[in-house]
Amino acid sequence: MTDATRNGTGAANPPIAPDLLALLVCPVDHADLRLQAQSLVCTVCGRVYPIEDGIPNMLVQDEPGA
Ligand SMILES: [Zn+2]
Repeated sequence: MTDATRNGTGAANPPIAPDLLALLVCPVDHADLRLQAQSLVCTVCGRVYPIEDGIPNMLVQDEPGA
C-alpha cells in the first residue's frame, strides 16, 4: 500500500489559513467573519472582504448612495 494522499482528502484548499481566519473580525462592527467561496463575509453587517492570494482585503468600502 502506498501512503495516503497528504494533499487534502476531498476538501478544497481553503483560500485562507484557518488560524488567520479565527483572528479576523469585521473592522466595522468587530463581528465574526464567515468564509464564503473566495471571500470573507461579516456575520452581522454582511460586508464582503475578498481574499487575494491568501490575504484578506479588509478595506472598508463605503457604499455610495446606500
Ligand atoms: Zn460587519
